[in-house]
Amino acid sequence: MGISDLSIIRGYGIFDFFRLKDNAPLFMEDHLDRFFLSARKVFDEIPFDKESLEARIRKLIEVNQMPVSGIRVVLTGGYTPDGYSIGLPNLIITQEHIKFPPDERYRTGVKLITYPYLRELPEVKTINYMTGIWLKKEIAKAGAFDVLYHHNGLVCELTRSNFFIVNQQNEIITPDRSILKGVTRRKVLDLARQKFKVHEAPVSVDDLRTAKEAFLTGTTKKVLPVTLIDDFTIGDGQVGSITKELMQQFSLFEEKYIKQG
Ligand SMILES: *Cc1c(COP(=O)(O)O)cnc(C)c1O
Repeated sequence: MGISDLSIIRGYGIFDFFRLKDNAPLFMEDHLDRFFLSARKVFDEIPFDKESLEARIRKLIEVNQMPVSGIRVVLTGGYTPDGYSIGLPNLIITQEHIKFPPDERYRTGVKLITYPYLRELPEVKTINYMTGIWLKKEIAKAGAFDVLYHHNGLVCELTRSNFFIVNQQNEIITPDRSILKGVTRRKVLDLARQKFKVHEAPVSVDDLRTAKEAFLTGTTKKVLPVTLIDDFTIGDGQVGSITKELMQQFSLFEEKYIKQG
């Protein structure tokens, strides 16, 4: 790719990322739908359609034979004629090795630190992760797993994951605005609704203090319990029963999804 691409010059671009399990794509349709949703928000012209993109991805999967991996589909700002105007978007598709958090994290839960930040164009999966990557040192210093962003007193999301709490009434709540709506978030909400009361609603920073349980969701995290935020423990500091239940339900759902082809 040429160096005048607007992604390099100005950080203009969008992407999506999904996972392969047993060499089969997980929730690819949802991810490609979101890819086009993101793309249409920031580009006037997308020089291919969903069918042709999917065909190219399937070809790559067949050739590479990486049964457990991630597919990254990036759409860049294209070659800019003047250093600022959008060109014809360039498409990059890569297949990558992926790493899940260690098993122990799922047993004990992870620590988060909070940070006031609102992602630019939060509903678009942009390639802009400046703040999250810049904060890596702070995260490591605090012995944390990741950072939880908040804005105007409301919790948003993590650098690359969505966030949920369980309140004292055993209701599951996940922020409804100023977030990237994760595919994992959607699947977990659908599963949770079968057994629990679920709300997509604002979660305040104060709500964290009284939460019984907390967890995060994302393509390469699945459902990961959160037991510590800054200097206070969530609930009794152990992975909660509702979180455990959803971890299990999501795992079964993945299996079923793959089996049904
Ligand atoms: C990708 C991402 C998520 C999680 O989305 P999934 O589709 O579940 O992987 C959440 N927030 C941000 C900012 C993201 O980039």
